Amino acid sequence: MAKIVVEQIPVLSDNYITLVHEPVSGATAAVDPAVAEPVLGRLATRGWRLTHILNTHHHGDHTGGNQELIHRTGCAVVGAAKDSERIPGISVEVGEGDTFLLGGAAAMVLETPGHTSGHIAFWFPDSHVLFAGDCLFSLGCGRLFEGSAEEMWTSLKKLRDLPPDTLVYCAHEYTAGNGRFARLVERDNQALLTRLEQVEALRAKGLPTIPTTIADERAANPFLRADTKSVAKAVGMEPGADPAQIFAELRRRKDAF
Ligand code: ZN
Ligand code: FE
Repeated sequence: MAKIVVEQIPVLSDNYITLVHEPVSGATAAVDPAVAEPVLGRLATRGWRLTHILNTHHHGDHTGGNQELIHRTGCAVVGAAKDSERIPGISVEVGEGDTFLLGGAAAMVLETPGHTSGHIAFWFPDSHVLFAGDCLFSLGCGRLFEGSAEEMWTSLKKLRDLPPDTLVYCAHEYTAGNGRFARLVERDNQALLTRLEQVEALRAKGLPTIPTTIADERAANPFLRADTKSVAKAVGMEPGADPAQIFAELRRRKDAF
C-alpha cells in the first residue's frame, strides 16, 4: 500500500487543515477545510491537485471551505452517510469500517460520535496516521454537543485501541489549554509533565503540538484515562465506578474550567 505525505495548514485562530498526498497516484485530500484559500495556496506551492475533501463532521470550522474547493477543483467530498444532510457537497458517503482509497492509500472510517452524532475519524493504517477531528485532542477531547458521555467514552476507547505509534492529527491546537486542566487532574503523572514541558517549548517557538501519538495520549490524556484509579480519585469517585461516569464527571469539570 502506498504511503502518504501529510502537511498541516494552521488557519483561523486554532484550526488545522491537513493535506494528505499520495505521491504514486497524485491523489490529494484536504481534511476538514475550514476555509478554501490557504488550501488552494498550498496546493499551488506543492504542485498538487485536490482530488478529495475528507470531513470528520459538519461544523463550519471543518467544512467552511467545501463549496469553494469543489467549485475550484472539482474534488469529491467524503463524509459520514449518517450526516449526509449536513455535510456541504458530500459525494462519497461512508460509515463504520468502510475503507476509502486515496489513490493507493487506504483509509478506514471509524464512527466516533459524541462531539456530533455523525462524527467520524479517518485512519490510514499503513502510514500509521489518524485524523481525529474534534473527537480526540492532545490532552483533551471534544465537547459533547450531540452525544452522551457514554458515546464519547466509547469513541475515545476505539481510538485509544489503535496501534500506539499512530500519529494523531487533531483539528485544533488546544493542547496548552487542555494541559492546564490535565495538570489539575493528574499532577503526579510523569508522562503528562513531560508532555507539558514539550508543549511549552513548542508553543514558545510558535510550533504546532500536533501531531501527537496514541501512546503519548494513553499515558498523559486524562480523558483516555477515565478507567484508571488516579483519575477516578481525582474526580472524587471510587476506583470501581463506571468509567463512562468518571469520564462524564471529568468532561463536566472541564466545561466549567
Ligand atoms: Zn466541531
Ligand atoms: Fe472544530
